[in-house]
Amino acid sequence: MTSSLSDLPLRDDLRGLTPYGAPQAPLPIALNVNENTHPVPDAVASDILDDIAVALRDVNRYPDREFTTLREGFAEYLGHGLEADQIWAGNGSNEVLQHILQAFGGPGRTAFSFAPTYSMYPLISQGTGARWIAGTRQPDYTITPDEAVAQVKEHDPDVILLCSPNNPTGTPLGLDIVEAVYEASRGVVVVDEAYQEFAPRDAASALTLLEGRPRLAVSRTMSKAFAFAGARVGYLAADPAFIDALRLVRLPYHLSALTQAAAVAALRNSDVMLGMVDEIVEQRDRISATLEALGYTPHESWSNFVLFGGVADPKKVWQQLYDRGVLVRDVGIPGHLRVTAGTEAETTAFLDALASIGSAS
Ligand code: PMP
Repeated sequence: MTSSLSDLPLRDDLRGLTPYGAPQAPLPIALNVNENTHPVPDAVASDILDDIAVALRDVNRYPDREFTTLREGFAEYLGHGLEADQIWAGNGSNEVLQHILQAFGGPGRTAFSFAPTYSMYPLISQGTGARWIAGTRQPDYTITPDEAVAQVKEHDPDVILLCSPNNPTGTPLGLDIVEAVYEASRGVVVVDEAYQEFAPRDAASALTLLEGRPRLAVSRTMSKAFAFAGARVGYLAADPAFIDALRLVRLPYHLSALTQAAAVAALRNSDVMLGMVDEIVEQRDRISATLEALGYTPHESWSNFVLFGGVADPKKVWQQLYDRGVLVRDVGIPGHLRVTAGTEAETTAFLDALASIGSAS
C-alpha cells in the first residue's frame, strides 16, 4: 500500500510546495545548472587526493568543528584584510544561506529579495519557517537604489538576499544598491556573490563594504568558478558576531574531514582551479553575440550563463534542444531560456543545435 504526501502530518506551511528540481538528465551537453563544465585538472586532482588520503587515516575521529585551516584559506583567498574569525563555510552556499535563515529568519519573520532571482531563496526561507516576500525589478531586471529602498522600507524584512550578479538573469548589482538597502533596513543583508569571479576584473565586491556594517554578509561558493560543485563547499564573510550567530544553528561537525581536506587542497591550487574563468567568460560573450545574431534577446550577464528572450515557446525549444542532446534551463520566465557557458565545444554544440531549430520568434 502506498501513501501520498497529503496523508502525512506534514507542517502546514510546507503543504503545496515543490522541491528544487532542475532535471539531472544524462545528456552529453549539460548546460543547465551553471556549473563549471571543465573537469578538475589531473595534477590538482592528485594533489587533492593526497590530502584526502591523509584525512582518511583520522576519519575515526570527528573533524575540526571550527574548520580552522579552511577558514584561514578562505580569508587569504578573499583578501580585503579579512581574518579567519570573519569566515564561515558549509556544504555549498545553500547550506550557508540556510544557516543565515535559521539564525535570522524562522517562524514569525520574513525574508525578501528582488524577483526573479535564485529559486532556492524562497525554498530555504519557507523551509526554515520564514515568510517569503518577492520584490520586483525593472523590465530589464535591473534595480535602482530608490526603488530598492522603497520596497525594503515597505516590507521591513528580517533577511534581505541580494544576488550579485543575479541568477537567473545575470544582471550586475551596483554597490550603491547594497549600501542603500543596508541603510534602509533593520534586518540582515546578504549579498550572494556565487558568480562574482565571472564579473569584470575591476567590478568591486561587496566585501569592500563589510567594515562597519555588522548586519552585512557576503556569500560565495566553490561550485561555480572553482569547478568544485560536487564537493559541496560554500562560504561567507561577515562580522565575527554574525559568524557566532551561525554557530548557534549549525549541526556539530557539519563539514566532514574529507570535505575540509579537499577544499583546503583545492584552495591551495586556486590559480589552476580558476584558470578556466577567462575562457568561460569568452564563451559566455560568444553565446550572447550569437544569440543576438539569431534574433534572440540575450540579457547582459556578469556570470557564467546567459538568459535570453525571444523564445516563442520555451518548453518546446527546451525539448528540441534536449532531443539534440543539449540540456538548458527553463527558469519559468515567459519567452526565456537560460544556458550555461560550457567549454568551447559544448558551447558550439548548443549554438549549432539552437540554430538548427530555426530562428527566434
Ligand atoms: N547562490 C546562487 C545565486 C546560485 O545560483 C547557487 C547555485 N545554483 C547557489 C547560491 C548555491 O550553490 P552551492 O550550494 O552549490 O554553493
